[in-house]
Amino acid sequence: MENSLIYMDHSATTPMREEVLEVMLPFFRERYGNPSSLHAPGRAVRAAVEEAREKTALALGADPGEIFFTSGGTESNNIALRGVAKRRGTKGHIITSSIEHHAILDVCRDMEKQGYSVTFLPVDNQGRVNPADVEKAITADTFIISIMFANNEIGTIQPIAEIGAIAKSRGVLFHCDAVQAIGQLPVDVRELNLDLLSLSAHKFNGPKGVGALYKKKKTPLSPLYNGGGQEGKLRPGTENVPAIVGLGRAIELAASELPSKADRLTKLRERLIEGLLVIDDVLINGHRELRLPNNVNASFKYIEGESILLGLDLQGVAVSSGSACSSGSLDPSHVLSAIGLDHATSHGSIRFSLGLGNSESEVDQVIEIIKPVVERLRKMSPTYHS
Ligand SMILES: *Cc1c(COP(=O)(O)O)cnc(C)c1O
Repeated sequence: MENSLIYMDHSATTPMREEVLEVMLPFFRERYGNPSSLHAPGRAVRAAVEEAREKTALALGADPGEIFFTSGGTESNNIALRGVAKRRGTKGHIITSSIEHHAILDVCRDMEKQGYSVTFLPVDNQGRVNPADVEKAITADTFIISIMFANNEIGTIQPIAEIGAIAKSRGVLFHCDAVQAIGQLPVDVRELNLDLLSLSAHKFNGPKGVGALYKKKKTPLSPLYNGGGQEGKLRPGTENVPAIVGLGRAIELAASELPSKADRLTKLRERLIEGLLVIDDVLINGHRELRLPNNVNASFKYIEGESILLGLDLQGVAVSSGSACSSGSLDPSHVLSAIGLDHATSHGSIRFSLGLGNSESEVDQVIEIIKPVVERLRKMSPTYHS
């Protein structure tokens, strides 16, 4: 990476840590055995996979037997929702929110086409789901509730413990897409009454293409694939051993550094918000306190987020407009629409997501760099009158 790059797009992906790469390398070289093989090189690799499973379980307050490695957050979400539905057999009702990641929303929409019914709960103007709405939405047919831990665009944290308690008392399974929370917020699957949880290594300085599904013991779920029976038959296929080992190290580091990292990022976040609010006609989206330590989502009135992004990119600052997955489309972000932003304001939004490498000085530089970018764009904006 260039020295001058200021990377503030950690919700899209994070750089992998050197300590993580280091533990992965032997598994690309001499430790190439198949963990299912019974010979010594196979057994040694099996031990490394199981060690990663233990580290993952420890970070979540789960048992190792409840952790299943997958290819990432998207696959974990698909296995959770579709796997539970498959096992159930009969069609039924799903409750989710209107601001989930596409890896939940589009699964639910696809399942609707197959005959399932889905309630997409609204959120308030700060992006919070009301637990009372969850309770009211439960019917005799409801078999799963899926609510994300924290939103990837606006950072808002959901009342997961409250929803978990409701799900438990009503006998409905509860899945949580915790991809953005791991490494930023404490997550304990028992305290939260979670039956299923998805995580992804590349969002906490681990490798891409690997994640995990936590499945509480005895949670009824049928695998989507058939094959060699790996990962307790839940996700067969020869394990991506280097990536799994990397995930284990990354989540171990993330868990041990969590309080100090969250504290540091929160301070940077507040500094960035303060600096941005000096500019006229800027709104901060999402909840003011109940938000990811690393997230700042801001709307710059009268101009396009995409133009700001490109202006910043020219100066070596990497941010995101809308969500990375939906950029390229002209539709406003479904999350910003759900919190009540009009199209114009939504299109003027930028997400800054902070991470390990960011410093106070970078935050200050970004504030200084963005001011003239916004000013120049507003001068050209037909809707802006200073
Ligand atoms: C990134 C992300 C995903 C997708 O994870 P992948 O590992 O990239 O498939 C799912 N949900 C949320 C909230 C995310 O931020």
